Amino acid sequence: MFNRFFRHSLLVCMFGAALSGLAPAMAATVIDVSSVRLGLHADKTRFVMELSEKPAFDIFLLANPYRIVIDLPQVNWQADDNTERKKGVVENYRFGLFKKDTSRVVLDVDGPVKILQATVLPPISGKPWRVFIDIQRTDFGSFMTALAARRQEKAKNNVVLTAPPVQPSESKKFTVVIDAGHGGIDPGAIGKSGVYEKKITLAVAQKLYAALKKNRLYNPILTRDDDTFLSLRERVNAGRQAGADLFISIHADSISRSDFRGAAVYTLSETASDDEAAEIANSANKSDLIAGVDLASQDDTVQGILIDLAQRETKNFSVKFAEMVTPEIAKSGMTIRGRSHRFAGFRVLKAPDVPSVLVELGYLSNKQDERILKSGKGQQLLAQAIANAVDAYFEASQP
Ligand SMILES: [Zn+2]
Repeated sequence: MFNRFFRHSLLVCMFGAALSGLAPAMAATVIDVSSVRLGLHADKTRFVMELSEKPAFDIFLLANPYRIVIDLPQVNWQADDNTERKKGVVENYRFGLFKKDTSRVVLDVDGPVKILQATVLPPISGKPWRVFIDIQRTDFGSFMTALAARRQEKAKNNVVLTAPPVQPSESKKFTVVIDAGHGGIDPGAIGKSGVYEKKITLAVAQKLYAALKKNRLYNPILTRDDDTFLSLRERVNAGRQAGADLFISIHADSISRSDFRGAAVYTLSETASDDEAAEIANSANKSDLIAGVDLASQDDTVQGILIDLAQRETKNFSVKFAEMVTPEIAKSGMTIRGRSHRFAGFRVLKAPDVPSVLVELGYLSNKQDERILKSGKGQQLLAQAIANAVDAYFEASQP
């Protein structure tokens, strides 16, 4: 009896916590989302979610492109992936884990909109908890006013994301940050067979981590070790905060032409070396847009200048490493795309003081590449190829 009472009062506490904002990690009942759908009404587009518990949620707008973001506590997505995703003002939507304890829905809308209402309805006649979001077109001015109000509110409790790099530690270990591209709400490219880029990048990153961990000279760090979304800024900061000696971002590509195949290694430049490199940088930079990160609230202007100054130094090291990775990947059996090493404007490579490269392992849109990228053996060979290049790079850097 005591137990039952105790459990009951605990639930009430957690419920209280959930109401006051996003539920903290301790508030344990994981909410199941059983259905997500769009409805079209004469004067509005309605977005509906069905849930097992009453959710706490936060909703806000984003511009460039126009989006609506709904943040929830970490939920268990059981909703059908194949419902219609384009209706009324909504062009498309996606959902998934945004970060630890936060799940996110991003709705892409076709222009400035306003949220007429965002309500939660309790279970009734066999229906579970439901969230209704009613959306209507509005004019640009009203949209921007709503956006500015939200930003002002956010700025009050602003979190400073950029931490200064740590001082190099006493030990002479080389810190290598391994960045598995995409994750959580952002699947990245989708392969011929439906495999997600975020899965491939994580598998190769983990194998590279294991390979480097064997060598006592290295202190490898993963930016993510599970299916979580990280903004590009967070990835860059992970490298800086660790005082990294090298930053390796891992991706796999997709393109409309299924005969294109092979790996490519990129380093940063303000202007991409060719159209294709620019296009790839563009799609990688989209990651934040896909996940509903508010880019405008990140002050890039002053920092941009500082970054540019400091980068001239590290660019040379990035190029050196890139030139060592390419032949190693070729030895692993993966073809190399076109010119062996390209330059492109990747935002994830913008740590001013960390030599950084981005490796596109191959094309998920190509059958042969996808087979290699999906197989444990192929992943292992690619990871080992990068590890060999890391060895060569640090060996060459010794006096
Ligand atoms: Zn990618």
